[in-house]
Amino acid sequence: AQWAATLRARAEIDLAALEANVRVLRERAPGAALMAVVKSDAYGHGATPCARAAVAAGATWLGTATPQEALALRAEAGLPDDVRIMCWLWTPGGPWREAIEADLDVSVSGMWALEEVVEAARRAGRPARVQLKADTGLGRNGCQPGDDWAELVREALRAEGEGLLRVTGLWSHFACADEPGHPSITAQLTRFREMTAYAEEQGVRPEVRHIANSPALLTLPEAHFDLVRAGIAVYGISPSPELGTPADFGLRPVMTLSASLALVKDVPGGHGVSYGHHYTTPGATTLGLVPLGYADGIPRHASSAGPVLVEGKWRTVAGRIAMDQFVVDLGGDRPAPGAEAVLFGPGDRGEPTAEDWAQAAGTIAYEIVTRIGSRVPRVYR
Ligand code: PLP
Repeated sequence: AQWAATLRARAEIDLAALEANVRVLRERAPGAALMAVVKSDAYGHGATPCARAAVAAGATWLGTATPQEALALRAEAGLPDDVRIMCWLWTPGGPWREAIEADLDVSVSGMWALEEVVEAARRAGRPARVQLKADTGLGRNGCQPGDDWAELVREALRAEGEGLLRVTGLWSHFACADEPGHPSITAQLTRFREMTAYAEEQGVRPEVRHIANSPALLTLPEAHFDLVRAGIAVYGISPSPELGTPADFGLRPVMTLSASLALVKDVPGGHGVSYGHHYTTPGATTLGLVPLGYADGIPRHASSAGPVLVEGKWRTVAGRIAMDQFVVDLGGDRPAPGAEAVLFGPGDRGEPTAEDWAQAAGTIAYEIVTRIGSRVPRVYR
């Protein structure tokens, strides 16, 4: 509701910035199609509006983790039918028949998954779109090279011959693409080439081969292949501060998180603040109450550390972040009730960025934006 957005807190989502980011990323990988990764509610930005904006800016694929996320997009986002939606977190007993009927591309990492998807295709009476995932070195999801890959390729081709599926893609995922020069990068690329070449020699005719996430898209043109999967960069955040700032890549952060101060009050020196009294006022001062807490995704690890812009000045979280609120020491300033406290945004109004919060909390900016909770209204502009 608009009043809630106005009074307490809001996450403004700049869809024009998102569209500009998508265009920048397409220019960086001109030979490849672009998949906008919109899993986890578009990294906290809102799946449906972000998916629509990404498609409007030229993304031809969307990526999610679960089939439920992908099905919801197909049903609710009003996307053109030719937009491909791929989901990659296969789990047993998933809605595979529905996925096939909704023309999703389903990732398969092993025989378990293949057999269940083939069975679902039989029941659906139409072929599944299947993308075979290779573990080229991430050590997470994906099929091991060697006999396992050979078996998966053979059985997928057999099912393709029976009209039960179509192998639409061969793909993999990097472990360390955000660390340029890491030896695993070339090792994974070599293995990816070997595993895709093997599958193609056996007769697989994939529409797309893909391995690049945002850091590989931004720094590793030889990893672009036919499709690049961009998540964090679509939201205008650099995959890692070591790689550069968003501006270095021509990207602009999409989310601005702000709240209205709920209380401003004078306190004497020596006043303990918040649970555990981890902060004590050094002298007479004013405290401002920010009505956001760890229930909203503000990391408790950023207690006594997270930065907030209030009336042009950076203030630091004073003491512990609680479930619904935290305090900043305003150093004697007396903003009007309801004054805006900006936790993070693009940074060009002097506000902190999600990266600043990540540093304060000992985490990555991905986690900062993705965990902003459902109690914070998203306001699109
Ligand atoms: N591809 C896969 C399989 C992923 O799991 C993710 C996200 O973790 C991405 C691509 C996008 O990664 P990034 O946000 O670094 O672009």
